Amino acid sequence: MAQSTEPKTRFDIVSKGVGLIAGSLMMIIIGIVVSLTLRNEFGLSMLLMGVCFGGYGGFQIYQGMEARTKQITCPHCGEANQILSEVKSFTCVQCDKPLKLVAQRPPSSPSPRRRGTKRLS
Ligand SMILES: [Zn+2]
Repeated sequence: MAQSTEPKTRFDIVSKGVGLIAGSLMMIIIGIVVSLTLRNEFGLSMLLMGVCFGGYGGFQIYQGMEARTKQITCPHCGEANQILSEVKSFTCVQCDKPLKLVAQRPPSSPSPRRRGTKRLS
């Protein structure tokens, strides 16, 4: 498995944020318990860390919701993969085959054939 840990889909970002919030809730709970039972600074710092993690997790989820995605239909199995627009390579979620994401043009514009007539300088 030589797959990068970079987020490829909206779900990747959102799930990371959810994980962060889950972790932050644990920290907040532990922080409250520790500060109530032991009454030391460890509980308070745990609490603050939990709040920070939660904020970062919320930011991740927001980013995931706002992220621009594009739909790539797999030529092998026909699965429509929703991936982030900046992702350069992607493996189909259905059949695990690599998809080519090069030169995706919008379907509304047919490829213009201008050979040497006009050249933008
Ligand atoms: Zn596929």
